[in-house]
Amino acid sequence: MSSSVASTSLLKHTSSNVPMCSCGNQAVLRILNTRRNPGRSFFGCPLYNKEGLPQCNFFKWSDSSEYKEQALLKREAEVLKKEEELKKREAEVLRQDEELKKREAEFEKRELALHNDHVQFRSQEADMLHARKLFLVLWLIAIVMYLYLILSLR
Ligand SMILES: [Zn+2]
Repeated sequence: MSSSVASTSLLKHTSSNVPMCSCGNQAVLRILNTRRNPGRSFFGCPLYNKEGLPQCNFFKWSDSSEYKEQALLKREAEVLKKEEELKKREAEVLRQDEELKKREAEFEKRELALHNDHVQFRSQEADMLHARKLFLVLWLIAIVMYLYLILSLR
């Protein structure tokens, strides 16, 4: 099997004391998160079956400080990654919030413009009404003067 050869050569590169699990694979370091053993690291099968459980029941505590450090580093990296993701999501939310505010401002601006248009229209309407009244008054004056002229010429 070429894969087992590859994993044994990898094993030599990483650490000489990584055990093999019952299915013959290089065991992986995991961290327990139980109340009895919080943060304690152990070696387990690297493969998972369809139920999401380890493929074999291999289990070995890895209490040597080297492994503990490795496990802690791994967990720290995971925490950092999660933090990074959280920050990314936060930034995304902030961006969306900004976008929403921008759209709101745009909407307000448009509404204001509409309002201004309306006001302008109303004032134009008032001007027109005023002009019409003025025209009517002038007409009346003209008619009165005309009648006066006719009457005075008799
Ligand atoms: Zn296994």
